[in-house]
Amino acid sequence: MAKKPVDKKPRGGEASEEDQPQLEMALFQGPLFDRVVDTKTHAKLIQSALVAAKEMVSDAMRRRAHTIQIEPREGRFALRYTIDGAPYPAAALPGPRGMAMVQVLKLLSGLDPTERVQPQFGGLQLEFADRKYEVFVESTPVGKAERLRIKIFDVKQSLQRPQDIGMPETIKDRIREITAHRSGVLAVCGPPDSGVTTLSIVAVHTVDPYLYQVFNLSDLRGRKLINVSDFVPEQGHDLEMSFDRIIRREADVLFLDPLKSPEVAQTIFQYANRLSFILEIPGNTPFEALSKLMEWVGVDMVLQGLRGILTQKLIRKLCKDCKQAYRPNPALLKKLGLSEQTTVLYRPPAPPAEDDPAAPTVEELCGPCGGDPYHGRIAALELLEITDGMKEVIATALTPEAVRRQMNADGQVTLQKDAIRLVAEGVTSLEEVQRVFAGGGKKRPVGKRPRPPGPQG
Ligand SMILES: [Zn+2]
Repeated sequence: MAKKPVDKKPRGGEASEEDQPQLEMALFQGPLFDRVVDTKTHAKLIQSALVAAKEMVSDAMRRRAHTIQIEPREGRFALRYTIDGAPYPAAALPGPRGMAMVQVLKLLSGLDPTERVQPQFGGLQLEFADRKYEVFVESTPVGKAERLRIKIFDVKQSLQRPQDIGMPETIKDRIREITAHRSGVLAVCGPPDSGVTTLSIVAVHTVDPYLYQVFNLSDLRGRKLINVSDFVPEQGHDLEMSFDRIIRREADVLFLDPLKSPEVAQTIFQYANRLSFILEIPGNTPFEALSKLMEWVGVDMVLQGLRGILTQKLIRKLCKDCKQAYRPNPALLKKLGLSEQTTVLYRPPAPPAEDDPAAPTVEELCGPCGGDPYHGRIAALELLEITDGMKEVIATALTPEAVRRQMNADGQVTLQKDAIRLVAEGVTSLEEVQRVFAGGGKKRPVGKRPRPPGPQG
């Protein structure tokens, strides 16, 4: 189905616009987690589906997908890519071909391709365009077939420092202030797949490592923190003994694994008068995280120990080359809370007219972005600080609305306000912000992409 086959022959030796350079292909380089792939037993499977699987993954990577989902649907397999957090439907695969691709990808990731009843998790190393990636593969049984979720991580791409995610100085300064006193908990929260782990790592890196002793006690699966020492607990030591040892080493700030149990939460809050903690807390929103903490450690400990909750929403950036300026009307500016002096906002270009054969195709509209007017993402951030007013709200009448009102009263920046800042700065469009806030930006496909993928080539 691919419009541009990989091995297209040049016509008559003349350079033509149709002559594509050799397309970059992904190289599979063995399973992760020290697993072994039994190529001998499954030679037939490899022969039948390896090339198709490779082409599909390569196509996804050329389009900068970070998630691939292969899902059984009415005897076929639906393929979906997620690019910059937005889902794009790709091709539907015929049943047998889709099934074989699922099995070969499982095999290469160190999973058992014959096991289709139990969910499995594994991964593989991959090279694409001279860059190394780690690919995590998860299989889940669905009826008689299976769904495969493939997540692709760029090993070198290091989003760790505040400037890497465009964190404004104001928020950076506030986190520094919060973590500067060897006391208190800075919580980081957000929905799954919203970059919470990355955000918590960024929060750790707001702390000046030359002024403060920062230790990492979390398992980052091989990710290394800049200027942060790993703390390895002694054999047989529980969390309290480790904290005592860390305090003796004059630690200021401690980075921990995501909070999963009330017991661990209580221990942390008991130590929150001697150490600063940065860690993830369950909750899609700061309000949910707050509620969970109250349930786990009680209102008094929250009031004493919690200093702030950091969260983000990732918003796609407009392509610099084809974004269209427009003059917002005063009513819109008022609604957005923007100054009347704002003379220009940006939006994606209008799609080409469908009934005009002479109109350029979506791809021709803009070379750099290939017609997808968004490229890369940036974080809208919110730091909910536990001010005296907020303590009052927590102690007496905790509701999402009351939290929001208090944030406004304290002059704290909410996610929505920060997202509108990105619109005002021309980084993104109002449509994109509305999309992200409407559905979490997850479930609804953004619409058909102009180019069909080439997994069936
Ligand atoms: Zn563009």
